[in-house]
Formats: sequence, C-alpha cells, structure tokens
Amino acid sequence: MKALQYRTVGAAPEVVTVPDPEPGPGQVLLKVTAAGVCHSDIAVMSWPAESFPYELPLTLGHEGVGTIAALGAGVTGFAEGDSVAVYGPWGCGACAKCAEGKENYCLRADELGIRPPGLGAPGSMAEYMIVDDARHLAPIEGLDPVATVPLTDAGLTPYHAIKRSLPKLVPGSTAVVIGTGGLGHVAIQLLRAMTASRVIALDVSEEKLALARSVGAHEAVLSDAAAAEKVKELTGGRGAEAVFDFVGVQPTVETAGAVAAVEGDVTIVGIGGGTLPVGFGATNFEVNVTAPYWGSRAELIEVLDLARAGAVAVHTETFSLDDAPKAYELLHDGKINGRAVILP
Ligand code: NAD
Ligand code: ZN
Ligand code: ZN
Repeated sequence: MKALQYRTVGAAPEVVTVPDPEPGPGQVLLKVTAAGVCHSDIAVMSWPAESFPYELPLTLGHEGVGTIAALGAGVTGFAEGDSVAVYGPWGCGACAKCAEGKENYCLRADELGIRPPGLGAPGSMAEYMIVDDARHLAPIEGLDPVATVPLTDAGLTPYHAIKRSLPKLVPGSTAVVIGTGGLGHVAIQLLRAMTASRVIALDVSEEKLALARSVGAHEAVLSDAAAAEKVKELTGGRGAEAVFDFVGVQPTVETAGAVAAVEGDVTIVGIGGGTLPVGFGATNFEVNVTAPYWGSRAELIEVLDLARAGAVAVHTETFSLDDAPKAYELLHDGKINGRAVILP
C-alpha cells in the first residue's frame, strides 16, 4: 500500500510503498477514508536527530477516519464496513487515568512504549492503518468522514481545553482565541456552541481573521504588539475570563497572560515553546495557567455528538495522498485555511 512517511530527519515526508498491514489479536484494520494534517507534525519534523523520540521511518497522521476492513481475533462490538474515527492518544487501558477514559494522560504509556498513530506508531496517512484496540474507535454514523476527521484532534483538543474553563465562561464573559487555524477555527465554533461568551479571535493574516469571523468570532484582531491593548479596550479594561493560545510562541503567551482577567484561565495549547511566568504581579490576581494535551475518549464522543447536532463545521481543503507533502508545505507557510485533509 501507499503511505506518507517521514524517513530522514530534516527531509520532507515522502510517499512510499510499504507492506499491507494485518491486524493481530485484538487489533482492527481500517481502510483509511480521511487523514487530517496537524501543525504538530511540522514541529515533529523540525526536531533534531539527537533528541528525535520516534523510530524512523514513521507513517504520519494522527487524525484518522476509516471503514473497518478486518477485525483481529477476539474483537467484538464492531463489524467490517463500520465507519469509525480513531481516538489517537492511545494508553494502556488499565491505569487510573485510562480507567477514566483519559488515555491522553496514561500513566504507563512511556514505560510500555505505547505511542499514538502518526506519533510513534504507524499513522493514518496510508491506505490502511492498524488500530491497536477497538476501544480507540468511535462510530461516526451520520457524519461525513472528511468533515469529521479533524474533530479527532483539531476538535477534541480545543473541546477539552474549553470544557475546563466552562464555569468561568458565563454570560457577559469573554473568551480569546489566539491562532485561528486548524484548532482555533474549531475552538471558536465550540465556544459559540457551548457558551454565551463574547469571542475575540487573534491571528496574523486578514484571511485567517475573515475565517474567524465567518465561523462565529464576534471580534477579530490582528495579533501584533498592540493586540493585548486592543483586547483590553474591547473588554472595558477587564480582560478575558479564558484565553486559548493555539500558537504558544513567546509573543502569544505574553499576549495571553496580559489579557487574562482576574481569576481568568490561560490555556496554552500550541507547542511553540513559549512560557508564561506565574508569580505575584506576573499576571492579574488568581490567573490559572495550564498546558493540556489532547482529550479523553468520552470527550471525543461528545465532540462527535456536537457535530451531529450541527454545532461545528470544519473548513477543509482536501489533497490526494500523492499531494500530501504539498499539504504540509502549505500548512508550514500558513496557506491552509481551516484543516488540510488527505484522502488516501
Ligand atoms: P495551524 O497552522 O492550522 O494554525 C495555527 C494558526 O496560528 C494559523 O492560523 C496561523 O496564522 C496562526 N498564527 C501563527 N503565528 C501567530 C501569532 N503570532 N499570533 C496569532 N496567530 C498566529 O496549526 P494547528 O494544527 O491548528 O495547531 C496549532 C498549535 O497547536 C500547534 O502548535 C500544534 O502543534 C498545537 N497542537 C497542540 C495539541 C495539544 O494537545 N496540546 C494538539 C494539537 C495541536
Ligand atoms: Zn495534532
Ligand atoms: Zn494507562
């Protein structure tokens, strides 16, 4: 089968032919129908050889939707032909966090060498993929595979972040979304569906700000050195009850810290390496700063249900597997509006 692999540190990913995988006991083989392109892959492909954590070659893709092509021995609860989304942050299934469905925070994944598809294990950018356990599948009946695949990360990750801040996002509150790309443009829609907050979006290009407005942002502000002042003005000096930073570089986390209201939340989702000091006077009083990772199995099911209710429409640009390297180039250059989706 064809697969998109990252093969050499520092080189672009390549479309190659690899053996067709076969499901072992307990595993599920999917015929991949759609695979999402995440900016995290670009970060992964920028890491130096000395500290590169995964084995190469690595088949990319940690957002996947497919139809079940074969069930490994002992798998029950699903049938061949079922259309399913893959829950990506695989865990051991047995530790205290996994028991809560929070496999993203599995206590034993590192020790057991369990890695997400596309981030260590073979990913979704291939004609077929192996899912290690049926509990990592969520049925998508009633949903379109292309529109749904980004929900497994670009939907689930902001959903988890927003859910944590819901008690603060009461009527009259403000939520700020920094970076309105794949994750951010879904975050805006989730905020509109889940809260009565006013949503202020920040990005660096007019095109991205236009997308932000079109998916429901009340205000769209250019993300520059004056952005924090502008957000404060828009909130009468009070700032935002919750700030979600989907970029995470030093200038954006500083903006996030500067606009967080008293008792506000700053959630740094982007992996740009920026850090925000916590200490008396560093931010407004009682600001909570956190950096979460992905979301839980239950939250994925909730996001899919929100999509079924019509609350989120992901903007997608589709590419063939042969054109997947091009999709990464465009994403790297900031030229994807919404989420790029590969159709293997
Ligand atoms: P993306 O490229 O689709 O979107 C990023 C957006 O940020 C773009 O619209 C870009 O124009 C904008 N941007 C860049 N610099 C900016 C700045 N200074 N101010 C405001 N906006 C700016 O990327 P994505 O796939 O949505 O991923 C977003 C980030 O989240 C990445 O860092 C990714 O690695 C990370 N991520 C983290 C998790 C997690 O679990 N923590 C999960 C998925 C993705
Ligand atoms: Zn991702
Ligand atoms: Zn576990």
